Amino acid sequence: MNRIKISKSRQRLLEFVDEYIKRIGFAPTIREIVKGAEISSTSVVKFHIDKLVSAGFIELNNRNFRNIERVHLPVPNIYIEDLSHKVCNRCNVNKDIKDFYKRKGYPIAICKECTNEDSRNHYMNNRPHYLEYMKKYRDSARQEALTHYGGKCNCCGETRHEFLAIDHINGGGCKHHKSINGMAIGIWLRKNNYPEGFRILCHNCNMALGFFGYCPHKTT
Ligand SMILES: [Zn+2]
Ligand SMILES: [Zn+2]
Ligand SMILES: [Zn+2]
Repeated sequence: MNRIKISKSRQRLLEFVDEYIKRIGFAPTIREIVKGAEISSTSVVKFHIDKLVSAGFIELNNRNFRNIERVHLPVPNIYIEDLSHKVCNRCNVNKDIKDFYKRKGYPIAICKECTNEDSRNHYMNNRPHYLEYMKKYRDSARQEALTHYGGKCNCCGETRHEFLAIDHINGGGCKHHKSINGMAIGIWLRKNNYPEGFRILCHNCNMALGFFGYCPHKTT
């Protein structure tokens, strides 16, 4: 006996067509197949029918999809599910299953290429919104970090937040900044539960410490 690989949806399609012809007396339309065999779109049904025609399961009268003639003769009755490929719901291309992202272990309906294009488009269409959202997120994390580490300059007591910065007590700020890939320090601190080794300095005191190794506030 012939063993022909056939996917679950094609099997469903054949069963629906069989059942329909038995019940009504003639073949269903493409739209009826979409509904009856639970296939995503008319173009996917056409794609499946094309494959089923070349595999000899179905014949079309006058190449007309509305006149499907189910071929009953050499139909192999062993169906092997084909899980190695899948038709993308967006571009309708039959692709390797590896070309689909998975959700909860199952490949999603749209291929990686189409998914990536979707998210690119989504980002580009919503860019101002994203940037504003990120700014708000950064600002609130910064405020929270400033409050957590005392809310004022450790040296002179400056409290206006515009003057304040978060300082690495033992230096290494640049290296740290690089190691967290430029993530805003406030966000990093929040994510890491406000570790020790940081303090608040105003920009004046911070600069003086950087240039001279001491802040003049402490020498007078
Ligand atoms: Zn696709
Ligand atoms: Zn200060
Ligand atoms: Zn100072």
